[in-house]
Amino acid sequence: MRMQFWGVRGYVPTPGAEYLRYGGNTCCTAIYGSGGELVVIDSGTGFCQLGDMLMGREFGRGGGELSLLITHTYWDHILGLPFPGLVHIPGNRLHIYGPDSTRGSLEMVYNGMLSPVYSPVYGLAHIGATHSFQPISTEPFMVGGVRVSALPLSRRNHSPIWAYRVEEAGRALVYITDVRYIDDQIWNQALQFAAGAHILVHSAPYTRQEQVQDYGHSRVEDAIELAQEANVEQLMIFHHAPTRTDDQLDALVSSYRRQLRDEESPLIFDAAREGLIVEV
Ligand SMILES: [Zn+2]
Repeated sequence: MRMQFWGVRGYVPTPGAEYLRYGGNTCCTAIYGSGGELVVIDSGTGFCQLGDMLMGREFGRGGGELSLLITHTYWDHILGLPFPGLVHIPGNRLHIYGPDSTRGSLEMVYNGMLSPVYSPVYGLAHIGATHSFQPISTEPFMVGGVRVSALPLSRRNHSPIWAYRVEEAGRALVYITDVRYIDDQIWNQALQFAAGAHILVHSAPYTRQEQVQDYGHSRVEDAIELAQEANVEQLMIFHHAPTRTDDQLDALVSSYRRQLRDEESPLIFDAAREGLIVEV
């Protein structure tokens, strides 16, 4: 199983020369199974670049199929969906999984996003690809030979936020975003869910030093602590703050790597950047 980052920024897309190396697109990660399965987590603006790449494959001919796992429906995790050409080509198949909110189903949210007020697409009915929406549950399911499990880890206002665990041939990738560990219950649930994963992709837009207010997000230190306690091999932080430049991210990575070395921790630590491929 291979993973590739297509969008690693949180909140809003972040263009500009100082952000080119890590990239400015919002959340989107692709996982390629060894049998050709394609599982995508979140459809932030990074989904547009992924879509461009896929147009050179069977998606360009209307023969592609992907499963999209949505963690929650804040803009930075959904906005890219309607833009790539593959979404408008008949014959392509999109299986979209994610949480319904108390204000409406996942399908309703996407349909609202495509309403004439925001978009010329005029709703999901005008998308060319065959698509289905499936409310996510804690019941694991298979995408070909890839196993997907999900966990509702936290909630903001009306929007539940789910974590995903994707496994193949005994290797596991866990993706946790937009969580603030406000009590032991959330911490223990996350710990159990991430236990023994080879890769943990965890949002961490702040450091302990920077965090002055609870924005509902994790700090780098939380992600490291979770990865260590859960016996994860490699931690990739993402959902970088839009204010964090490439140079600042480099410095952040160096500083935490130094700290881990001093602690003699075996944890491999890195910051996700667009285009990066990681073998799981
Ligand atoms: Zn977010």
